[in-house]
Amino acid sequence: MDCYACDQNRRIDTLPARELVAADEHWRVAHAFDSTLPGWLVLVPRRHVTSIAELSDAEAASLGTWQVRLSRALHAVTGCAKTYVIQLAEKEGFAHVHFHVVPRMPDLPADRRGPAVFGYLNAAEGDRLDEAQQDDIAAALRAQLDPAR
Ligand SMILES: [Zn+2]
Repeated sequence: MDCYACDQNRRIDTLPARELVAADEHWRVAHAFDSTLPGWLVLVPRRHVTSIAELSDAEAASLGTWQVRLSRALHAVTGCAKTYVIQLAEKEGFAHVHFHVVPRMPDLPADRRGPAVFGYLNAAEGDRLDEAQQDDIAAALRAQLDPAR
């Protein structure tokens, strides 16, 4: 089975900051690898599941907490006005459940708001945030996530 999220989950001990913004026993947080928007995060279960209905009660219990904690960190780091949380998992090789947690910046153009924000994903290699930029944002977010609440 070819699954990008599982490939990364298997290497969790050696992942760079951009692929391991944070994690617990159920979830891992990564910066999207093919986005042009700084702070576009993806929240993935540590297990291979392809439907939200397959999540365990324990995975579900921490899902909301992660979405809110990541949103708070994105507010602090990016200055976003709010966050979008979207789960589709339809692209080939990316059926593994993943929640996009996207900073909606105050100056996001009107024609990119709502589902059109996906215009910032699937960017060509030369147009994406480079790995160093992703690592920098990941480190800043990690610092925001550290304080216990
Ligand atoms: Zn998987």
